[in-house]
Order: sequence, then C-alpha cells, then structure tokens
Amino acid sequence: MASINSPKGTHDLISNEARAYKYISDICEEVATLYGFNPLHTPIFEANELFARGVGDATDIVRKEMYVFKDKGNRLMALRPEGTAGVIRSIIANKLYATNDLPLRYYYSGPMFRYERPQLGRYRQFHQFGVESVGIGGVYDDLEVILLAVHALQALGFETITTRINSLSTRETREKYKEALKEYYKEHLNEVCGDCKVRYEQNPLRMLDCKVEHDVELAKKAPKITDFLTENDKKDLEFVKNALLGFNIETTIDFSLVRGLDYYSGIVFEFEYLPPSGKNYGAIGGGGRYDKLVNDLGGPALEGVGFAFGIERLFHILNEEGKLEHTNVKDDLLIISVGDTARFDAYSLLTSLRTHGVRATTNFSDKSFKSLFKIAELRGAKYALIIGENEVNNQVVSVRDLESQSQVEVPYQEIVNYILEKLGFNHHHHHEECDCDCEGHEHHKCKCECDEHDECTCDCECDGECTCGECNCTCPECSPKKKEE
Ligand code: AMP
Repeated sequence: MASINSPKGTHDLISNEARAYKYISDICEEVATLYGFNPLHTPIFEANELFARGVGDATDIVRKEMYVFKDKGNRLMALRPEGTAGVIRSIIANKLYATNDLPLRYYYSGPMFRYERPQLGRYRQFHQFGVESVGIGGVYDDLEVILLAVHALQALGFETITTRINSLSTRETREKYKEALKEYYKEHLNEVCGDCKVRYEQNPLRMLDCKVEHDVELAKKAPKITDFLTENDKKDLEFVKNALLGFNIETTIDFSLVRGLDYYSGIVFEFEYLPPSGKNYGAIGGGGRYDKLVNDLGGPALEGVGFAFGIERLFHILNEEGKLEHTNVKDDLLIISVGDTARFDAYSLLTSLRTHGVRATTNFSDKSFKSLFKIAELRGAKYALIIGENEVNNQVVSVRDLESQSQVEVPYQEIVNYILEKLGFNHHHHHEECDCDCEGHEHHKCKCECDEHDECTCDCECDGECTCGECNCTCPECSPKKKEE
C-alpha cells in the first residue's frame, strides 16, 4: 500500500528536535514570567469571524491563508493563524479586564496555521511564542514588551539582533495615508499583481507588503508614512528608538515596515538576525501596538501591545550555530544482560539506578556485544554495565568505561554506589532542595518537611548496612543486600 506523507508545509518534531522546541519556548516563558506575564492557552480553532474581524478581512492571512472549515454543526471555523485575536477574545469573554490590576499580561505558545507557499523558514503549521500586554498603552508598555523580546532572544543565545521599528499612527492618519497611496497607485493599477488590485480596494497599505518583484519596486517609490505621522507619533518613535539604543539594542527606524495584520496602530517592530551562514530565514519575530482591537472584538476600549516569535526560525538559526546541543538527551549508561537470570538482575539494578535519577536503559534481546556497545555509544552512554552468566555466578557487574574502553568488576552490593560516584551523583542529588544532612536511608530521623523524606515509611526487615533497621527504601546500602537474601 502506498505510504501517506505528512501534509505539505508541515514537519514532524522528533526526539531531540522536539526537546529543542520545548527548550526554546521554556526559555521564552521563563523570561516572560520575569516580566510578570502569565500563561493563557486558547483553542487552536476559533470562529472564523474572530480572525475576519480581528486580523482583518483585507489581509493576506485572512483572504488566502486561513484553514477554514465548517464543523458538523455548520459553524464556520478557522485554525488560528496567529495568537493575538484568541487572547483578546479570551480577555473579553472572561471579562479579565474587570480588574484594577492593568495591564493584563499573558503569554502563549503553540502551533499556528497559514496556507502559505512553503519555503525556507515558511511553513503551513508553525509554532509561535507570543505575549500580549493589554489595558495601559503608552511608550513604556511598548518598550517593556520589546525589552522582554530582546531579553528572551539573548537568553537563547542570540548575540546580535536588529530591531526595526516604525509607527503606523492612528486610524485617522492611516486613512489619510491610504488616500495618498491610492492616489499614487492609481496610475500603476494595470501594472500591479492581481492581489494588489484587490488590496487597492480593500487596504492599499497592504500593497507595500507585496512580495512580487515589480510591486516591490513600485512600493519603494510610494509615499512614505513619515510624512503623515503626527508630532506625537514621531515623539513616541524617537523615544522608543532612543530608549532601546540606550540599552545597547541595535535599533533602526524603518518606514516601510507595515506588518501583515490590520490591527496594528502606533509603534510596530520586527526582530531580525542574519546568521553567519548567510541563510535568511526572515524575521524571527514581530509585533506592535493595537488600539482598537479589543473594542472591535466587542470589548472595552483598551489598548494593547504584543509580539510573536516564530519558533521554527529561532530553532533553525540556533541549531545551525550549535547552540541547542545541550538540550540533547544522553543516556548515562546501558546495561547489557545475557540470559534470563542476568536479565532479571539487570532489571533490579535498572530500577535502583533510575530511582537515583540515573538515565539507564537495557537491551531487550541478545545481540553481539559489538552492536550493543555501538547502541550505547549512539545513546551517548558513558558506561556499559555487563551482566552475563559469569557475572551472575560471581555476583558482580562488569563496568566498561566506553570512553577509555577499560573494564572493571564491581560486586552487586557496591554497584549502585560505584556508579553514582562515577557519575558524580550523591544522595543529595535527589534532595537538592533539602538542607538536611541525612544519608537518604535515615529519612525517619530527619525533621525536614521535604517531599522525598515524607515518603519513606521504613518498615522493611533488611539487615544490611542500613542503620534504621526498618526501611524499605531502594537506597544502595539496602537494595543489594535485600537481593542477596
Ligand atoms: P506574524 O504573526 O506574521 O507577525 O509573525 C510573527 C513571526 O512568526 C514571524 O516573524 C516569523 O518568525 C513567524 N512566522 C510567521 N509566519 C510563518 C510561517 N508561515 N512559517 C514559519 N514561521 C512563521
């Protein structure tokens, strides 16, 4: 039977790549939390109307790129193409604005869907991390959101980022500017692409965003929004630029920056990074202020500002620069067992080691040592612990250091401690948050209230080196002894 491909423009995230994505959004979340933002999860699909009204029906996103479908109840739904509209819908629906603790500050992270032509850095299902700060308005709010974004990028390891900013002013100013654009484009209407003909009628601002070569050239000669900005807009723009420069953030004013979504007004911005490889994945993130969106979606007249990063683009750049390797997971060791008795012993050892936080796996079938060592190497293991017939008879484990290829025999009773020592673990490894001096198996003597200790019920009958005499913990002193019995 023919196999089934993944839908065009989508990609699977497998193992370490999935970990790297999680790491990227975790770092962003951590930084957002530092700035007082809270998580807000909204559905992946919403009423189509939310985006038509929110993002704007003249935008490419809504006109051409949305995954729209009717559900079984005949409701017109859309997969979210971006995160802001959903967050604002939630703020309104849940009346989150009814608080005197404004601005509301939320972050989100997850898949977005746009039916775009797949190309470098452009997918049909991609991931964004974004934040929204709603309810206050003003340049300090803009500034803080940009600082958050830059902080997150730095925390991820981006050393040089360029921030491009512009002002899209107020709706009134934009109307005047649109008139001027229409005036300019009137004579060129027969030259522009089909899309731009529609944009001309619906929102000529979008014509500046067209990617068709001839239209890009025309856009260069079009009137600039600068000439329409109010004194206030210019003041805000200068303020934000100078403040960012003051924080050593490379910032340029780019009057051609219009953004692809209709809700923006006032300050808009985009972040760019050109990797040494020269590959250009496009803007790594962008955002801006919106003054009417909350109101347009049926809420009170609250201003907001937000941004979103494209996680795919962050991933590609960081990956290319080798800055995600630390997120790869490696096994600490592989236990190689040969024969049924050995396999059983291997399992009690595995359980003991895992309880101590050692990342350990074993072979499920007998294979040649050579291929098992190879597997251990692939998993990044530092040691192979071999339990064969001889080892079972002598109650020892052969420990092979996979780097030096040296091998020693360690008695069953000592193996857990030996490995913990080798890996640089100790009892306190698992009690990191606990300051007590107890030795693990003496939990009942400990007066602290940490979770680990509370769980110890100490009622076993082992007569090993454990001094408590009544514990059933799996600590290294007790468990090998128990097995001997
Ligand atoms: P936007 O919501 O269009 O402002 O996009 C914000 C960020 O999301 C962009 O700067 C990109 O990094 C990323 N992004 C937007 N569209 C895509 C896409 N189709 N594939 C991958 N990343 C995207």
